[in-house]
Amino acid sequence: MEKLRMGMVGGGPGAFIGPVHRMAAELDGRIEMVAGAFSQSAERSRAAGAAFGIDPARAYAGYREMLAAERQRPDAIDFVVIATPNHLHLPVAQAALEAGFAVVSDKPATATYEEVLQLESVVKKAGLPYALTHTYAGYALVREARELCASGRLGRIRKVAVEYLQGWLSQPLEASGQKQAAWRSDPVLNGPGGCIGDIGTHAFHLVEYVTGLRVTGLNATLRTVVEGRTLDDDCNAFLRLENGATGTLMASQVATGEGNGLRLRIYGERAALDWRQEDPNRLMVRSLDGPEEIYHAAGGYLGASARAVTRLPGGHPEGYIEAFAVLYREFADSLLAGGQRAPLPATLPGIEAGVRGMRFIERAIASNRAAAWVEF
Ligand code: NAD
Repeated sequence: MEKLRMGMVGGGPGAFIGPVHRMAAELDGRIEMVAGAFSQSAERSRAAGAAFGIDPARAYAGYREMLAAERQRPDAIDFVVIATPNHLHLPVAQAALEAGFAVVSDKPATATYEEVLQLESVVKKAGLPYALTHTYAGYALVREARELCASGRLGRIRKVAVEYLQGWLSQPLEASGQKQAAWRSDPVLNGPGGCIGDIGTHAFHLVEYVTGLRVTGLNATLRTVVEGRTLDDDCNAFLRLENGATGTLMASQVATGEGNGLRLRIYGERAALDWRQEDPNRLMVRSLDGPEEIYHAAGGYLGASARAVTRLPGGHPEGYIEAFAVLYREFADSLLAGGQRAPLPATLPGIEAGVRGMRFIERAIASNRAAAWVEF
């Protein structure tokens, strides 16, 4: 089987999400990493390339060098993966698309709302695939929840409660130079939304992705709890959805003791759903009048969309890397079958989700500043 060739930007030694991208991209045997600019430092990028076993000539000093050199090769990369801090998402994506390469970018799409509008026009002009790795969209039971909402099983959706609670920034970790905390607390490298951008956008995306409803208004309070920190680390927001439903979104990185506590509850007229990222192979379905049900990943009763992204029989847990790999598999299948001009499947978040996410950050900051509801 032909494989897609991938070039990575970021993901050097000590990085968090770069290695996850590599594992996820290669999990299904459809993609091979052949090139990269893995670090700001040319030396570290070369050392990383050697550790990953790629041709030394293709471990580049920077992403511009990578794009220029790869364009000249008969075996050039097919797409670029962006796993850098946020301020580089726009320049790398724009340069890659303008050089003729498809893009898989990590979220948030850019550092600011203005930037994402620029990126949107670059994506449209290039007419090339652009995917955004909102990881949680890759879980089988998130796909099931989305299908249940679309099928009308819940009836009209009335209320949504999403929470994303982490505790790892409960202390001023950035002051110790910890890599992931350091750039996330710097508005230049991160963008203006701290916790609201880093994890609030995942929660926001999950609400719109699963319900199929758009958020039309919000009232957000953003706080900085840890002294000396510049950006928000704790956020609470009320949401209004397009069908009149309301909701709450709670995101915090100072929720002491929490790991990666993403949870989505959706309440409809007839039934309700409850999914937790830390227990991702079970989905609770509650009915108006009936016993509570637990849907298990790989259950034979699940819908087509969940079955399509399940790899293992029931009782063999799939998790974060497999969910991430679902996004890569959909991306690869689309390019391998239809080429660079084929539209990506609607299950895969793309530039529209990127624009919505950046608008969410911008609106939450505006609402917090005005201490008032704002329209989306
Ligand atoms: P990190 O600090 O661990 O890694 C960033 C990497 O980018 C490092 O290897 C760094 O050397 C490299 N880098 C910096 N400048 C570079 C340059 N000019 N050229 C090449 N490489 C450069 O950060 P992280 O936690 O892995 O986050 C990276 C991105 O992934 C962020 O945008 C973050 O929001 C996103 N992220 C997404 C998820 C998810 O669930 N999808 C999870 C974590 C992080």
